[in-house]
Amino acid sequence: MPPGPPLAPAGGLPTDPPPGLPPGLTLVATPIGNLDDLSARALAALRGADAVLCEDTRVTSKLLARHGISATLWPLHDHNEEARLPDLVARLHNGARLALVSDAGTPLVSDPGYRLVRAVIAAGLAVHAIPGANAAVMALTLSGLPPHPFLFLGFLPARTGPRQAELARLKAMEQAGLSATLIFYEAPHRAAETLAALATALGPDRPAALARELTKRFEEVRRGTLATLLEGALADPPRGEVVLLAGPPPADAHGTASLDEALLAAMGSMSLRDAAAVVAVGHGLPRKSVYARALELAAQNPRAD
Ligand code: SAM
Repeated sequence: MPPGPPLAPAGGLPTDPPPGLPPGLTLVATPIGNLDDLSARALAALRGADAVLCEDTRVTSKLLARHGISATLWPLHDHNEEARLPDLVARLHNGARLALVSDAGTPLVSDPGYRLVRAVIAAGLAVHAIPGANAAVMALTLSGLPPHPFLFLGFLPARTGPRQAELARLKAMEQAGLSATLIFYEAPHRAAETLAALATALGPDRPAALARELTKRFEEVRRGTLATLLEGALADPPRGEVVLLAGPPPADAHGTASLDEALLAAMGSMSLRDAAAVVAVGHGLPRKSVYARALELAAQNPRAD
């Protein structure tokens, strides 16, 4: 292994990493509203990059201009990411230093970049990250809901059918033992509709939070239950960017669901094997015996399809 950077002097702080951007791909987190939330390392990386890959060059050039940085910007978004992979990987092979940013927050988190990172890893090239703002984690820390375990689900499908199916799958996972704070991104004009869907699927009394305009002038966190937040969202529609959170089910909720109930619920939305695996973990039982019971239940309850 090559020698690492020098260690911290005894009793002191770790030494700074070497200046400049190393060759390879560097994921650089940018602010989620307040443009001052850009770290010194992020600034150095953006200054040192041969090119900055970004979702929207107008958004990123505004950010760079504010910090007096002029950089070559190349668009990378959902529609061209796949096609750009061979060229970008070839450039990285030749020693390029590329930075990847999204319009806001941490790249890849409900934003483009996953396919590029996979391709770079598959090519045996370096990927680095400079951490920073992320709306989901900031909302979680402000919500007053249990911080872990948490499950980040990004955007639910906008269409009613697929959204209901996803929420039914989530409910089945809870019945099988999942107990986590759930985090969703949402567009403000759909916040009330999504709160209503969550209240229907998870129950109106579930503790919940709505965090909006984080790091911005009108930052606000509403805390309550899914029902009270829905009421509030109808009376006073939240404007700006929104994160929705729902706490874990009450402690006794999955304790009361029998193994058979949990299996039947999980089997409604996933394969027999997956349902058995999920329920086995939730109930702390051996997967083999739960799978055997799932086979029996499937034989007794043939599916309509
Ligand atoms: N990559 C970003 C991150 O790390 O948070 C998320 C990008 S995703 C396309 C945009 C969604 O993130 C918004 O619809 C909203 O749900 C959430 N979001 C982004 N900025 C926010 C903010 N300042 N306050 C609340 N939610 C925010």
